[in-house]
Amino acid sequence: MAASAVKVAVRVRPFNNREREEGAELCVDMKGNMTKVWNREQGTSREFFFDYSYWSHDGSREDPETGVLTKDGPGSRYADQQMVFNDIGIGVLDNAWEGYHCCLFAYGQTGSGKSYSMVGYGNNKGIIPIACEEIFRRINDRASPYIECKVAASMLEIYNEQVQDLLQPPQNRVKGGLKIREDPKRGVFVEDQTEEVCTSYEEISAVLDKGNKSRTVAATQMNATSSRAHTVLTISFTQIFYDEETGKPLNRKQSNINLVDLAGSERASKTGATGDRLQEGSNINKSLSTLGKVITSLAKRSSGQLGKGEVIPYRESKLTRILQNALGGNSMTTMIAAISPATFNYDETMSTLRYADAVK
Ligand code: ADP
Repeated sequence: MAASAVKVAVRVRPFNNREREEGAELCVDMKGNMTKVWNREQGTSREFFFDYSYWSHDGSREDPETGVLTKDGPGSRYADQQMVFNDIGIGVLDNAWEGYHCCLFAYGQTGSGKSYSMVGYGNNKGIIPIACEEIFRRINDRASPYIECKVAASMLEIYNEQVQDLLQPPQNRVKGGLKIREDPKRGVFVEDQTEEVCTSYEEISAVLDKGNKSRTVAATQMNATSSRAHTVLTISFTQIFYDEETGKPLNRKQSNINLVDLAGSERASKTGATGDRLQEGSNINKSLSTLGKVITSLAKRSSGQLGKGEVIPYRESKLTRILQNALGGNSMTTMIAAISPATFNYDETMSTLRYADAVK
């Protein structure tokens, strides 16, 4: 596996009801792995190329050949949750099985489909629940009795550059946030972070539900919305290999699978924010831009282009600091850039695609 290889997928959501009622105009087109965005005012367009471009549609387009209503785009097949998982999620799990850390981020403006891709809604499960099911399926199917697998989950939230444990009840929130520490053996870690051992899909689902609930409650208490915080789910996957004759442990591989739903990327200034909201927005923008800088510096380093004395700016945001162990080295990074299809969101869509283009 190539070091620091970043895979990028773009996923456009369908029009929502309001957009449909208002007759919103489509500004996105996809063909194969190409995403094209139209600037209707100027009559220009720009093409971007990513590892994957995922189309969704409301099913009202007629296939020109068959006349049948289809969800497919003119050049791209409709991508459902399973297709996205097969392309992106399986690689992440394979990587974890080899003992490497990985990070999967969902980036985009609020309402663009980050949670839909990561968590999903109802029966329409996203990458996280499908990945959890697959992890336990693989563990239960493993051929050798000489490999023991352990799974543990932790869930953090970073709001306004403060780290909180989502597996603790909201009343246990630590004023000022949890501390980030570094240790030669463990690397960078969050002090006092809860880690829940899970032995089945049902157990890990219950942990995720608890974390998501705590996320919403805390957001309400802070008079914010959960879209203003980064949510980091870490699944620690450990394999212990035993000697078939002596039964003694021989070797172990540990991997952190980090599944990150990033705070909405919309510009704070554009939303008319002032005071606390503006500060919150500038912290979000800072951490997203630091994440971009860390990923591009790591790519420069792996191709020998990082200048002497240039450092990877992990310390410039809590998000990159927490993920430091998992972003460098032999780890794998994947990003899903979620975009809106409507001309109304043109500026944010272009900014998301430029970001995705810069990190790929
Ligand atoms: P975000 O997490 O970026 O704020 P959401 O994931 O909540 O956005 O998505 C906003 C709305 O759009 C939700 O109602 C969601 O169900 C819908 N949606 C997003 N992406 C898709 C998709 N690919 N297919 C169908 N519906 C989607």
